Amino acid sequence: MEKKKFEYPVIKRFQPGMPGKSGIQPTLEPITEINNIPIARLQEEYGSPMFLITENTIRDTYQEALQAFKSRYPKVQFAWSYKTNYLDAVCRIFHDEGSWAEVVSGFEYNKARENGIPGKQIIFNGPDKSRDDLEMAVRDGAYIHLDHFDEMYTLIELTEELKMKAKVAIRVNMDTGIYPKWDRFGFNYENGEAWEALKKIAQQEFLELVGLHTHIGTYVMSTQAYAMAAKKLAELALRAEKNLGKKIKYIDMGGGFTSMNTLKGAYHSASDTNPGFNEYADAISFAIMSAGFQQNELPVLILETGRAMIDDSGYLLGSVLATKRLTDGRRATVLDFGVNILFTSFWYDHEVHPGCEVSDYAEETTLYGPLCMNIDVIRQNLSFPLLKKGDPVVVPRVGAYNMTQWMQFITYRPNVVLLDRDGNTHIIKRKEGLEDLKRAEIIPDFLKPKE
Ligand SMILES: *Cc1c(COP(=O)(O)O)cnc(C)c1O
Repeated sequence: MEKKKFEYPVIKRFQPGMPGKSGIQPTLEPITEINNIPIARLQEEYGSPMFLITENTIRDTYQEALQAFKSRYPKVQFAWSYKTNYLDAVCRIFHDEGSWAEVVSGFEYNKARENGIPGKQIIFNGPDKSRDDLEMAVRDGAYIHLDHFDEMYTLIELTEELKMKAKVAIRVNMDTGIYPKWDRFGFNYENGEAWEALKKIAQQEFLELVGLHTHIGTYVMSTQAYAMAAKKLAELALRAEKNLGKKIKYIDMGGGFTSMNTLKGAYHSASDTNPGFNEYADAISFAIMSAGFQQNELPVLILETGRAMIDDSGYLLGSVLATKRLTDGRRATVLDFGVNILFTSFWYDHEVHPGCEVSDYAEETTLYGPLCMNIDVIRQNLSFPLLKKGDPVVVPRVGAYNMTQWMQFITYRPNVVLLDRDGNTHIIKRKEGLEDLKRAEIIPDFLKPKE
């Protein structure tokens, strides 16, 4: 029998009537393997910290989302939101499942092209498309989603010069009961700006109005907000056909579905409160189908779901650097990853699991990252077992936004490894080294050593 580790006893102040917002906080179960691959083996091979992405979860989640919508609406197309995770291997799995690309910059656009996606399967969103980006999109026949009038005028000028037609949609913002409103993007519905934009487009020889787009927010927990947004876009589409003679081919509802991570300060855990794909699909499909389109003339429904599609496939595997006591007696555990690579810890209460077997005894602990800055906190006051230097920890649901928003700060960004369906592992982005970071730096001659 293995000898049990000695743990110092601690005396804790009893706080009557203070069990925390959701009762006594449960201690999280250890995660010692992922898809039957031991955490210890992964860290031995790829270092700590490291990200792991599981291919089967990506494909299963995609199919779940697709079925939810396809079983309720006849014409559905997903477009992968590049900014949520634009590692090529990840994008290619989504494309292999049939997803188009949704991009918000020239950089992302080029990434999609290099992933083999033709222009006619690229949706080009965002407020910052340069004239060169627009020209590339026009030549490729991509779907250009206009964000503001300045962009529209640039595109009108450009297409007249090129004598080429551009396929365009407008992004529409609106009141859906979600506040603050995201009215900085696109054209407003309520004040008539969206309609003005459509009329203007309809007069242009070289702009072909093909769709309507919205993206009402991110981590939107209300299905009602989607129903309202879909209803307003459908109304605009019907009005465009009737009054402008322009048939809208697609309605793009953007992204924004929640993942199962719990927001900081949330009263209940996400899995108790958040809608699933079926509920979102119900709300959106019903709103469009009952808007008054002829049954055989329903527009294609496009979805740009990011977060909800990829979060569950990502894991962050790290380890303990040190355990200490703060001056007020609280326990602090220092981890080898910080907010630099787990950016989403700014808005989520991430679940941090021990990566090895632990004793039953847990204590309120604050988990810090390794950065030399005070805001580097991964979790405040988590009920956590005693881990010692070198012990592994696992953070599930980190697939969305971390591998695009991570910062290069103080240290290198780690390996990202894909675990494929056959249980094989592949580095899909290798750990940075000094040369990677120095590549773009230039030392002026006067600072170089004299000969
Ligand atoms: C970021 C973004 C998405 C994806 O949003 P999620 O909240 O991750 O689903 C989709 N469409 C647009 C235009 C975006 O900017």
